[in-house]
Amino acid sequence: MNRPKLTAVSGISFLDENGVYVSTGRRQPICNLNDLADADLTLVKFLKKRWSAIPINRGRGCNFNCEFCVVNKQYGKYKSASVETAMRQLIKYSDLGYNCFFFTDDNFAQNPDEAIKLCNAIGDYKIKFKKKIELIVQVRTEAADNSALIEAMHRAGVTTLAIGYESPLDEELRAMHKGVTVEKLVARSRILSDLFYLHGMFIFGYPSNIRSRTSTGITISQRVDAFKTFIKKARIDTIQLLNAVPLPGSELRARLAREGRLLPLSMVGWDKYDGLFLCYNPRPDGLDPDELQNMPKLLMKKKYLGGFLSRKLNYGNWLNWVYLATIGFPIQFVVFYSRRFTRNFIERRTSGNATPRTQPIHDLFAVPLINAWGDIKRKWRNLFVKTYAGVIAKRWLKEYQDSQYIQTLRQL
Ligand code: SF4
Repeated sequence: MNRPKLTAVSGISFLDENGVYVSTGRRQPICNLNDLADADLTLVKFLKKRWSAIPINRGRGCNFNCEFCVVNKQYGKYKSASVETAMRQLIKYSDLGYNCFFFTDDNFAQNPDEAIKLCNAIGDYKIKFKKKIELIVQVRTEAADNSALIEAMHRAGVTTLAIGYESPLDEELRAMHKGVTVEKLVARSRILSDLFYLHGMFIFGYPSNIRSRTSTGITISQRVDAFKTFIKKARIDTIQLLNAVPLPGSELRARLAREGRLLPLSMVGWDKYDGLFLCYNPRPDGLDPDELQNMPKLLMKKKYLGGFLSRKLNYGNWLNWVYLATIGFPIQFVVFYSRRFTRNFIERRTSGNATPRTQPIHDLFAVPLINAWGDIKRKWRNLFVKTYAGVIAKRWLKEYQDSQYIQTLRQL
């Protein structure tokens, strides 16, 4: 039988029959995603539980070029499959009884007009077939500047936005080429938090550029304070904090290599490139490797498991659950309703000719009621996530402690 030669397939690497490493060179990224077959998740065998969220990939690539990221390097500029292709997949799994979907595009709203079209199609589908659909999408905070997009996402059932805020420090955002400032991140985030749950993804202690020395001088504890203030101000519900990962192919890796700061692979293997382990030397930034390695985990521990006393006395957040289910409910209802009522009232008076003035009078009472109920739901939901995430954080910490990685770092 005539077998095609592996060397004829571009974009792969392998050891040939003589054990020699062969790379067939770069393959051009696929540009027309409509040409791809739909992923058939029903083929995944031995799945113990049903999928909690069905992943749908509509778009690939990114028009931004953050220093640490390889999405643009790997896939080039953003391109996406048609709205019809995405709808076909969503309807298929919705008919199988699934109602939660995760769009895996790195920036769901990279093309806002297309995203609005898709969201409207999902919104229409929900209404026509009386379906309950929940969507989780990844966006940049620029989504907050587009009210039509926000409205369409809300109508489609987007509940959670996963956002790569990356850092609460302008110096670091500049070093990353993130193209945004802390002030803008906070302002946009507050707008988005009105309608969506926000999951914030961060890099703790981004390595500064030695030549510009942008963030040198900011201590670990100053960074911790900056994170705490930012997360509160930006009204972020859940967080994920990791160390910077110098991924192969990223500009960050090339820079750290030039600066001689990458830890050798014999010391830190590829299995450590998941954000839980420090893979570069942070000393030129004046940061202690031990401390920088541990701090993101400690912050996550604090967020999801609480302090020492809380971990002992409030195991599983049982005190919070009891509080929310008893006296907490009426207290919070009064607080949230008053706050929402006042805000709605002020907006109505100050908005001139805009919609709120023309709203019927009963909306003055009904809108704050709906919003206050949303605020209470957020409290319950976040407590649930916190309790669940506490178990995951514990597992991470154990995995990290078992790895004895700190001993490796001390060789630094
Ligand atoms: S981090 Fe996000 S915005 Fe930046 S290049 Fe990667 S995908 Fe694009």
